[in-house]
Amino acid sequence: MRDAPAGLPRKANSGRSCDFTGLKTRVCQAKDGIAEAVSLLSAGEPVALPTETVYGLAADALSPVACAKIFEAKERPLSDPLIVHLPDNAWLARIATPTPLALALADAFWPGPLTLVLPRTDIVPDIVTDGRETVAVRRSAHPVFQEIVETLGRPLAAPSGNRFGRISPTTADHVLAELDGRIPLVVDAGPCAHGIESTIVEVLDDRLRILRQGPVTADDLKAFAPLDDTRGTTAVPGGMKSHYAPRTRLVIQENPRPSSENHGLLAWQASGEGFAHVEHLSATGDLREAAAALYGAMRRLDAAGLELITAEPVPESGIGAAIMDRLRKASAR
Ligand code: AMP
Ligand code: MG
Repeated sequence: MRDAPAGLPRKANSGRSCDFTGLKTRVCQAKDGIAEAVSLLSAGEPVALPTETVYGLAADALSPVACAKIFEAKERPLSDPLIVHLPDNAWLARIATPTPLALALADAFWPGPLTLVLPRTDIVPDIVTDGRETVAVRRSAHPVFQEIVETLGRPLAAPSGNRFGRISPTTADHVLAELDGRIPLVVDAGPCAHGIESTIVEVLDDRLRILRQGPVTADDLKAFAPLDDTRGTTAVPGGMKSHYAPRTRLVIQENPRPSSENHGLLAWQASGEGFAHVEHLSATGDLREAAAALYGAMRRLDAAGLELITAEPVPESGIGAAIMDRLRKASAR
């Protein structure tokens, strides 16, 4: 592991407090916001952008100072590295050392919600990887994100646009609730299609290791190489047990029953009768719809002033595995 880049605090969220005085956050609709986003990003500023997974907080991935602003705005520890989003597949070999297996995955899933962890090249700043010899890369399929990163012509580091440890944003309003007054611009393109973060997979010589479950499932990946058994645990650096957390206590329970007058339910199949506030993940039992609805539903429950939130488990097939991973993290204290 290399040293922290000179001049930057080892932990962005400790020591001196960040000064955002005078910074006003504007929200722009995509058609008006693209040019402004490109100009701010070129000037080394962070901008919140829509992706097909969740809203990201993007900055020039090749500028350590621009990336430091991401850590500051999110209060994210520097030990939690960033995903680099590429303008096109040709950038892959400039940022990382792709193996034939990595190239096959990029061909099959990019642009899309699959992040590959690969050996990095020297142009990647240490702050992006926390000094690791690997870098996480993907290409977003969101047309607005694509237009911005292509026009900029440089890769963008873009973690989710929430304060560290909190629920990822799936609308521009969610970003504002997290980062208002800390960043200059949010580009609004409506709700995210997947609503859950990308799948992260470490590409080993002849095997794959899933570090974070997401929209691209274990079954999708098995077709390319055998998977290392990670026993359903999420092994990303910084992927601590508690994450994606509402402030209200959340428990997971089958056949939920209300235990007080102030008890909320995140429902999969239950009707929710007797609960003070109910959010249904999908009326039709569709796991993709449930994933897209998950974070918004968690935010509304968290804002309802409840004593306790019970989440009903969903089936762990397909993207259901990623939903359960997020619910377990939200319930860990
Ligand atoms: P976020 O974009 O906020 O969903 O977070 C990005 C995730 O990617 C974090 O959990 C990181 O730990 C993970 N990540 C980034 N770079 C690497 C890397 N080089 N190796 C493994 N995981 C990584
Ligand atoms: Mg995140």
